[in-house]
Amino acid sequence: MIRFDKVTKRFGTNTVLDSLDFTVSSGKHVTLIGPSGSGKTTILRLLMTLLKPDEGTIKVGGQYLTHEEKGGKLVPAGEKHTREVRKKIGMVFQQFNLFPNMKVLRNITEAPVHVLGMDKDAAEERARDLLDLVGLTEHLDKYPTQLSGGQQQRVAIARALAMRPQVLLLDEVTSALDPELVAGVLDVLRDIAHTTDITMLCVTHEMNFARDISDDVLMFDAGRVIESGSPEKIFTEPEHERTREFLSAVL
Ligand code: ADP
Repeated sequence: MIRFDKVTKRFGTNTVLDSLDFTVSSGKHVTLIGPSGSGKTTILRLLMTLLKPDEGTIKVGGQYLTHEEKGGKLVPAGEKHTREVRKKIGMVFQQFNLFPNMKVLRNITEAPVHVLGMDKDAAEERARDLLDLVGLTEHLDKYPTQLSGGQQQRVAIARALAMRPQVLLLDEVTSALDPELVAGVLDVLRDIAHTTDITMLCVTHEMNFARDISDDVLMFDAGRVIESGSPEKIFTEPEHERTREFLSAVL
């Protein structure tokens, strides 16, 4: 579902991702861990096409995200092609980024109606189902500021799912929350991970959560995957010294 092939990303002379290869199979949940500055968020931003790779290719659902095939050749993707492929991807950010002037229900129906051209009633019905999934049915008529941070983040999750993405990207989704609100958001994500076939790529510092939902954990250091494997392996018998150091600092 996601394939990075020799992806290099530089900012000036700083090589942030260095010929990175990795794949995430359909329906799998993969977590990226590693020290701050190791390139994890850059990967999510490349997938959201907020950044472009300097070298290498990225595929999503079997289609090039960064390139398109024209006359048998691979050329940099045009905007229309990128937009189409990106529809497969939903993202939840650290800061929830809800539309402040819209009530909860409309926050969720806005993109399905205006981007996908979905019928308004059908979009509302789906939004109600999603609000039920994230436990916020009774709040559909409120504005974002009338909700707690944890509730707002659960609306943001519902909003991302409303576009029926094949891939859900989660970027430190609990790090802006007060500690007592973290568990509710993680419970919702656990539920989604265990009950849907969506492919998930998460960046998180919540190691228990990573352990719970991940099929695979990738340990990053300086723009490379230095170790990967099941959560059991990475958290209980890491091979790499850097992984051991990192885990002993965060656990
Ligand atoms: P992580 O998510 O693992 O903390 P990031 O992907 O955010 O790491 O950052 C990796 C490196 O890229 C860091 O050295 C960071 O300073 C640098 N970086 C990220 N975004 C930019 C940018 N827009 N301009 C310049 N440097 C950047």
